[in-house]
Amino acid sequence: MTRVGFVGLGNMGGPMAANLVSGGCEVKVFDLLPELINGVAGASGCASAAEAAQDVDVFVSMLPAGRHVRGLYVGDGDNPGLLSIMSPDTLIIDCSTIDPDSARAVAEAAAAQGIAMIDAPVSGGTAGAQNGTLTFIVGGEPAAFERAQAVLNIMGGNIFHAGGAGAGQVAKICNNMMLAILMTGTAEALSLGVDNGLDPAVLSEIMKVSSGGNWALNVYNPYPGVMPDVPSSRGYEGGFLVDLMRKDLGLALQTAQSTESAIPMGSLAQNLYEVHRQVNDAGRLDFSSIQWLFKPELKG
Ligand code: NAD
Repeated sequence: MTRVGFVGLGNMGGPMAANLVSGGCEVKVFDLLPELINGVAGASGCASAAEAAQDVDVFVSMLPAGRHVRGLYVGDGDNPGLLSIMSPDTLIIDCSTIDPDSARAVAEAAAAQGIAMIDAPVSGGTAGAQNGTLTFIVGGEPAAFERAQAVLNIMGGNIFHAGGAGAGQVAKICNNMMLAILMTGTAEALSLGVDNGLDPAVLSEIMKVSSGGNWALNVYNPYPGVMPDVPSSRGYEGGFLVDLMRKDLGLALQTAQSTESAIPMGSLAQNLYEVHRQVNDAGRLDFSSIQWLFKPELKG
C-alpha cells in the first residue's frame, strides 16, 4: 500500500486527498486550519506538516502560492523546512500553481538533499479534484515523473510531462494566459455583434465554424442564454473564479518579466480582469463574467 503525506486540504487538496484514500493509499494529512484535518475521511490527521512527511513514499502539497511552498519545504530563518527532515526515498509532488522560479528553487534545494521533486500543477478545477479527473502538467526529471504516475492516476486522467523542473508551471501559466485572452476576445466580439443588432446565439454559431472559433466560444460561451450548462447561463456562479484567473495572469506577468518576454495581450487581459473585479465586484464569479465589462446592462 502506498503511503502518502498530504498538506494543504483546501478546495482542491481536500478532495484530492480523499480520492487517494478511496484509491487504496494510506494517507496522512495536515493543514494550518485544524477543521480541515478531520474532514478527510479515512486519512490519519497529523499535528504538523513534519509529522505528515515522516515514513511516507510520496508527499503531496496543494498550497496557495510560491511563498507557501518555499516556506514549507525550504523554511525561513528560525523555521527549517521539511527538506531538512524528509527521507531521500520520499518523492515530493507539489500540485500548487506557483511561479516557475519558486518551483525551480525548491526542486534544486530538494535535489541537494537527494530528494526527487516534481511540480505538477493541475487543471480541471474543484469538479476535477472531486471526481478524480484532474489534468496534471508535470515538470521534473523523467524518473521522478515515472515514479509519480500511480499516485497521479488516482487523482486525475491526463498526465503530461512538460520538461524539467518548473516546466509544469510554465505550461499551465501559458495555457491560462491564452484562455484569458480568448475569453476577453470572445466577449468583445459577441458584444460588438449584439450592439449591431445580431443575436448572440446566431453570431456564435457562425463564428464557431469560422476562423474565430475557439474553446471559450465553442464550449464555454460567455454570453448569457446562448449555451446551457455553462456559468453564463446561471449568473456566472461556479466554474473558474475571476480571482484565480487574476492570480494566474499575475504569474504570467511575473514569469515574462524574469525572461524579458513581451506579453502585451496577456498584460491587457490582466488589466481587464483587474478592472472587471473592481467595477463589477466579480472576484468570486466565473471568469466568463468578463462579458459584463463589455455589456454592463447584462448585469441587471
Ligand atoms: P485553498 O485556499 O482552498 O487551499 C489552500 C490550503 O492550504 C488552505 O486550506 C490553507 O490553510 C493551506 N495552507 C497554506 N499554507 C499551509 C502550510 N504551510 N501548511 C499547511 N497548510 C497550508 O486553495 P485551493 O483552491 O485549494 O487551491 C490550491 C492551489 O491549487 C492553488 O495554487 C490554486 O491556484 C491551484 N488551483 C486551484 C483551482 C481551483 O479551482 N480552486 C484550480 C486549479 C488550480
